[in-house]
Amino acid sequence: MQQYKLFIGNEWKAPASGEWFDSLDPFSGEPWARIPRGNGQDVDRAVAAAKAAMEGPWHTMSATQRGMLLHKLGELIDANADQLTEVEARDNGKLRTEVRGQVSYMAKYFYYYGGLADKIQGAVIPMDKPKVFNYTRYEPVGVVGTITPWNSSLLLTAWKVAPALAAGNVVVAKPSEHTSVSLLVLAGLFAEAGFPPGVFNVVTGYGKDVGEPLVEHPDVACIAFTGGDEGGRRVSVAAAKHFKRVTLELGGKSPNIVFDDADLARAANGVITGIFSAGGQTCMAGSRLLLQDSIHDEFVERLVAIASKAKLGDPALPGVQVGPVATRPQFDKVVSYIEVAKAEGARCVLGGNVRRGPGFGAGQFVEPTIFTGVDNGMRIAQEEVFGPVLSVLKFKDEEEAIQIGNDIRFGLAAGVWTKSLHRAMHMSERLKAGTVWINNYRSTSFTTPFGGYKDSGLGREGGVEAVKEFLEVKSVWIST
Ligand code: NAD
Repeated sequence: MQQYKLFIGNEWKAPASGEWFDSLDPFSGEPWARIPRGNGQDVDRAVAAAKAAMEGPWHTMSATQRGMLLHKLGELIDANADQLTEVEARDNGKLRTEVRGQVSYMAKYFYYYGGLADKIQGAVIPMDKPKVFNYTRYEPVGVVGTITPWNSSLLLTAWKVAPALAAGNVVVAKPSEHTSVSLLVLAGLFAEAGFPPGVFNVVTGYGKDVGEPLVEHPDVACIAFTGGDEGGRRVSVAAAKHFKRVTLELGGKSPNIVFDDADLARAANGVITGIFSAGGQTCMAGSRLLLQDSIHDEFVERLVAIASKAKLGDPALPGVQVGPVATRPQFDKVVSYIEVAKAEGARCVLGGNVRRGPGFGAGQFVEPTIFTGVDNGMRIAQEEVFGPVLSVLKFKDEEEAIQIGNDIRFGLAAGVWTKSLHRAMHMSERLKAGTVWINNYRSTSFTTPFGGYKDSGLGREGGVEAVKEFLEVKSVWIST
């Protein structure tokens, strides 16, 4: 079993604790890699290396040169996509095909932000006074700490690192303790691409041991966090003590709203992909299905017909559509929510069981599950399950769909299925969510901002907006 090391200043370092812990394969339940147990001393070393790069070679490099390095990294990600896929899928239990797609997509983030690096420009500001000249310059904030969850370690880190580096910052990355290996493999590619030592560092370990010291570190200017809202709140409070910048990409309980004038076959496929991709373990999962009452029964039948054919099993095998839940605590949580839904009186029309036995490894499998008869006040309608569980609610008209859709503390995303352009535009205006998909679900792109309203977070990742999260704007006055 391979024992990994921390990546600090382009070198592999043993953790100060001298301790390692196991990373588990979610399918087999077996340990498959040894992860360094980082702590505050390692964070100090990584931040010092990052700061030295910021004040040295990275600072003197032109924005065009930095962009070219990001581009080179994108090429190396493409060239090493199979290895990155293998280690990430081994850690999070996702389908190989799904992870392979994410790795290719991750390379595009580095191409895109590499291209943006030398296009970040200030402005000459028109003056209301004589004999003065004012212009703005954008400057990097400094050392950025990234903290990411287990569901898509590489992609979610790239969403932060690519714009942060394009803006001229340096990074200390902390992956989830459940899925650390892929970032360590990626780190090696930074060195190979020719990034100066300290520009990108990885410290692995637990939230308390590594995440907290990173957030508290006086030389870390900004924390870019993705994870649950509990962790997000802790990060936000700790960062506020130091007036630190934060971006938070948190949870969701997104409504997918189907009107009776929609293309129902297309909508059914969109709803299925919206909730069951990655076994429902995505922040943007369309986990609340709102159905217009006139199509309710017919639409539920369509969903059951599609989802009941899903093939569960070893995520490494071709043809498998649903893999295991990524961690044992998450598996227990999903199972407990199924019990909650039943106790609340929701009707289970599909799934609701775990799968064990031959072909199911350590048995961390939950069947795609659909509950009807859900009321928006129920916990199964309001709380994030982060698993393959869909709650179906009814509405009678647009106003009620908007009311139910917005009646929740989250606001990450929403889907709307309709053939009416007027309705599509009206709904997209009224829904309180950072992303609204019309007649599609789960589309994302490096060119487009993504982030949450309300308890789903702060700030945006993707597009030009992401770069702005990592920049200070300076106003310069010159008397003429
Ligand atoms: P989590 O909040 O438990 O952990 C996320 C990261 O934070 C981990 O690296 C963890 O070690 C670290 N951490 C935990 N406590 C910390 C602390 N006090 N200080 C600093 N770091 C700390 O989340 P998870 O269980 O790994 O991931 C699932 C959650 O992530 C879900 O709620 C999901 O919705 C959310 N998520 C959001 C998005 C998005 O873009 N909005 C994307 C994916 C996942």
